[in-house]
Amino acid sequence: MKVSLVVPCYNEEAVVYDFYKETRKVFEGKVESYEFVFVNDGSKDKTLDILRAIHKVSDNVKVVSFSRNFGKEAAMYAGLSNASGDYTCVIDADLQQRPEVVLEMMQILDNEPGVDCVAAYQAERKEGKGISFLKGGFYKLINKISEVEFYPGASDFRMMRRKMVDEVVKLTEYYRFSKGLFSFVGFNTKFIPYEVQERAAGASKWSVIKLFSYAIEGIVGYTTAPLKIATLSGFAMIAVAFIYLLIALIVGAVKSAFSSAIAIITLLLIIGGMQFIFLGIIGEYLARTYMQGKNRPVYITKEILTYEEETEED
Ligand code: UDP
Ligand code: MG
Repeated sequence: MKVSLVVPCYNEEAVVYDFYKETRKVFEGKVESYEFVFVNDGSKDKTLDILRAIHKVSDNVKVVSFSRNFGKEAAMYAGLSNASGDYTCVIDADLQQRPEVVLEMMQILDNEPGVDCVAAYQAERKEGKGISFLKGGFYKLINKISEVEFYPGASDFRMMRRKMVDEVVKLTEYYRFSKGLFSFVGFNTKFIPYEVQERAAGASKWSVIKLFSYAIEGIVGYTTAPLKIATLSGFAMIAVAFIYLLIALIVGAVKSAFSSAIAIITLLLIIGGMQFIFLGIIGEYLARTYMQGKNRPVYITKEILTYEEETEED
């Protein structure tokens, strides 16, 4: 029974060693055999040096180092591809997700054969009201318009059985949105609440813009419904135009002070704006086909450090 911990790291020099130390402490005597799969996602600080040092003094640490920053999605993909555990868990390097929860996940997989994946969701959000509101809206929207289901508050913090990991790794798409990929492959997922800790050190790598583009990734990646909005709006606009024409004729007949110039300019702006929006929507889909068509790799490895894996006895 081996557990793999997939740990994406981007500029985590301040916490990655603590994470390693802390996890070892928590696992001591509780998990017989486990490995760390650290993915250095093109860090610009000393993260790789620290990972090298950790690798040197341990016998269960793999380090996959990217040639540049490819993003957390790519890092998770590389980690999952290199993990060999029967159970594989994705966990952040900043100790916001406690290793004790990993034990809890492990116990559920041990005791409940029907469960293929245990995913943790934030019991209580420790973030700004604005961000929370936006995230809530995003989940409502995406669940309404896409086929796969997204669990609100679920993070990438989850433990999966080998079978599920193999299926996720088979999905080689360039634009990755893990919450969708995990949901897409199916299997039985059990959601458990967990408490997010304050970041042990360092800073979050997410900005509002990054989150916004991640949300677009999720929507465009899992549904083509927005394209339908364009068609529907087209019909709606034609209907509005007819009504407007009618009103204009009536108003014109009674000769009020109603300025037709204002009306025309307003309409032009509305229609022009909508055209740009829909061009943008179509562009998003087109861009994805274009990028996928290039068949570029999700990540490029510069260096891999491994360890001698013992042959399985069972
Ligand atoms: N991360 C990564 N590549 C990136 C950004 C983040 O591998 O381009 C890692 C980061 O090192 C951390 C995890 O993804 O282990 C979550 O990042 P962060 O803590 O910044 O996100 P938050 O917890 O604020 O959502
Ligand atoms: Mg974090």
